[in-house]
Amino acid sequence: MNKLYRFIADIFFPNRCPLCLDFISWDEFICSRCADELKPFPEEICPGCGKAECFCDTISYDRAFVCFYYEGKAKNGILSLKDGHKEFGIYTGNLLGERIADSKLKADAVVPVPMSVESYRKRRYNQAEVIAERIAEINGIPLLTDLLYKNKSAVQHTLTKAERLENTVAFGIKSRLKTDNMKIILCDDVITTGSTMNRCAALLKEMGAAEVYAAAAATTKLKKE
Ligand SMILES: [Zn+2]
Ligand SMILES: [Zn+2]
Repeated sequence: MNKLYRFIADIFFPNRCPLCLDFISWDEFICSRCADELKPFPEEICPGCGKAECFCDTISYDRAFVCFYYEGKAKNGILSLKDGHKEFGIYTGNLLGERIADSKLKADAVVPVPMSVESYRKRRYNQAEVIAERIAEINGIPLLTDLLYKNKSAVQHTLTKAERLENTVAFGIKSRLKTDNMKIILCDDVITTGSTMNRCAALLKEMGAAEVYAAAAATTKLKKE
């Protein structure tokens, strides 16, 4: 986001931390107390699949970067990101971008998981793209938003339970990669079942990507039965 715009907007609409709603300075995305409380990149999260309960044997991406568990303040942050406030997306995008840059992986592009046209019309931005933009900027690589599409969620109701779980119909290829053997960072806000990342990674590989790295702001913990 444009810095001058943020500075001027702050005069009329003082900036608030999206996690605790305390006032913060115009150039901050969350307050320092919330930042201290959040512990990014928990070690128990598997770097292969991005879940604490490893399911690496069933994934089509090559490794995962995940900032937080989807709980507490991080969950508030994701909910605010889906509700008109981009700050937490920028904050986690910066963390992910730096983490990926430090990992010495040489990715060629960043692709956000797409949202349906209907959802986009309602929200007016793709929350995954807010995160992806920062990763692309920090790593100095392009953001590609025209490769994949998502069908409207209403279509989901007509699917069988198996199809819904697999998410096989929801996503598709809109345009193809122009170069072969690209290494792509696939970005989403939350990894839940992993089926969205899996399906989108499979599509990227189908169009010739050599490797796909999943990057997400958060991952859910398995529900205790
Ligand atoms: Zn705060
Ligand atoms: Zn794993």
